[in-house]
This record gives sequence, C-alpha cells and structure tokens, in this order.
Amino acid sequence: MNKVSKEEDSHLNTHALIGPSIQSCCFRVKEDVINHFDSNFYSKINDNHFQVDLQKWALSQILDCNLKGENVFIIKNCTYCNRFKYHSYRRDGENAGRMYAIMGWEQ
Ligand SMILES: [Zn+2]
Repeated sequence: MNKVSKEEDSHLNTHALIGPSIQSCCFRVKEDVINHFDSNFYSKINDNHFQVDLQKWALSQILDCNLKGENVFIIKNCTYCNRFKYHSYRRDGENAGRMYAIMGWEQ
C-alpha cells in the first residue's frame, strides 16, 4: 500500500478486498516481532506473547490511502483455523500449499 497514491479524491471509486488470512486468534508473536506493529493492532496475551490483527492493520493502510471504508470488503476467515479450506504456512510449514487471487476491473 505504500506505493498507492494518497492524493485526495483519487480513490473514490476504487474498491479493495482483504482476503482470508491468519486472524488474531492464531497469529501470536513474541516481542521481537511485535515491535513492527503499532499498538492499535495487537493485544498482549502474557509477558512474552501478543496477538496481532493483520486485517485491521491492512484496513488502516488502505483507509490512509483515501479509499472509502464502504468500498473495502473483508473476508474474515482464519486460514490457520480452517484447515480444510485454506493453506497456511504457519500451520503446515514447508508442506503448505499456496493461495492465489485473481483481480480485475470493469471499464
Ligand atoms: Zn484462527
């Protein structure tokens, strides 16, 4: 998202999709990783572990680029929890499959 223009009104008709990803229920990190996130996007579990909401972080970046919130669609499925529906590198390691998305636009 850092390369998307932040010019006012430039994205009024732009839509975004945040696809399935690991959710905060399963995305737990230690202090060495949590320093990369703003405190608005994680909560502390115990002295050494934190839960991160990656989709909330992605949404924040999209909204910072002046997309309208109503034009952002979020699929809140956890790829880690849904073993039979999604691949997850964190769950399956190097044996994990890969997920792809196809995007396009109307003219
Ligand atoms: Zn989960």
